[in-house]
Parts: sequence; C-alpha cells; structure tokens
Amino acid sequence: MTMTHVDLSDSALIVVDFQNDFCPGGALAVPHGDHIYPVVQNLIDRFHNAGCLTVFTRDYHPPHHISFVSQGGPWPPHCVQGTPGFEFFPQLKIPPDASHFFKGFQEHVDAYSGFEGHLVADGHITQLSLAPWLRQHDIQTVYIAGLATDYCVRATTLDAIQANFETIVVINAIKGVNVHPRDSENALDEMKTQGAHFIEWAEDDG
Ligand SMILES: [Zn+2]
Repeated sequence: MTMTHVDLSDSALIVVDFQNDFCPGGALAVPHGDHIYPVVQNLIDRFHNAGCLTVFTRDYHPPHHISFVSQGGPWPPHCVQGTPGFEFFPQLKIPPDASHFFKGFQEHVDAYSGFEGHLVADGHITQLSLAPWLRQHDIQTVYIAGLATDYCVRATTLDAIQANFETIVVINAIKGVNVHPRDSENALDEMKTQGAHFIEWAEDDG
C-alpha cells in the first residue's frame, strides 16, 4: 500500500511508550525495540509537518508500583518516575507542541492502554484522559506506533476501536516482547478481528 496520498486530516499519531526501559539495555527491554526508531521518527515528522497532532504516552510508575514483582506483579521495576528508564528513547525528536499522557502513575493502578493515560499540562497530570481529549480536537482516526505490540500497543489499539476511532496500526513501527513465541501474532490477530487496520509506513513517502 502506498502512503503517498494519505489524507491525514482529522488524524492523530499516538506513539506508545517509546521509553528507555522498553528498549535494549532497559529494565524491561523489548528485543530490537530500538529498531522501530527510524519509522517512528518519520511518522512523527510527517504528522507534525502536516499540522497534525502527535501524542506520546508513557508509563510513569511510582517506586512501589503494583505491576512490579516486589509488589506481587508480573514485571521488574520499570519506567520509575525520576529515573532514566522513564525517559524517551534518546534519539527521539519530539515536536514542541506534542501532547503527553502519563499512565500507571498511581501506586495501586496499572495501565497498559494509552487511553488510561492522563494529559500532562504545565508539568501536572490532569484529570483529562485520551479519548475525550481526542474528541475535543475533532480527531476521527488514530495511527498507532510504539512498544510493545503484545501489551501496551495491543491495549491502546483495542481501546481506540472501542472508543469508535478509525484505528490504524503501523506494523513496521511496533515491536513485541513475545514472552510466549506467538504473543505478538496473536495480539495482531485480535486487533484485526476487532477492526484495526494495518499499514506499513514507507519512510520516503510524503
Ligand atoms: Zn508499566
């Protein structure tokens, strides 16, 4: 599918959890998670240059978060507030007018989906979550990229569909953990069954 004539009006890009702890060397690394960088950056630049909204979700966990093994959860500590693991993948160039949503910031609440994230404005976490914020901006279509296919990308995609957004997953801008070998494939099957569209983004388009 060629992307040359894609109409991005009424569209927003959602980059899910492209954070140091989910990249190689991080506390909860997605194998080759960093390999999506060139495509993700191209998406960001393309959306920004077209005057479209760019949205970045991030895990923002307190030190004793419920999802951590120490608290009986499934994961090693990751994306802890104030640590380098929380920060974006270093090469990522974020538009100055990008919008940021934090999730999993309460000790006893976990969140995989970006739609559970709350808008960060002037350095404060607001009460406004992603779906109403997108509707306020008259967004009909969301493009989804980031980490990881079988967890937060999956959950964000399914919530986007549930919230009645046209939902397009950029399959060369996501990467899975695959705790079990078929996890990412199964996640993609589920997204497709629920109504997600898949595209492959060509970097030189636009
Ligand atoms: Zn987390």
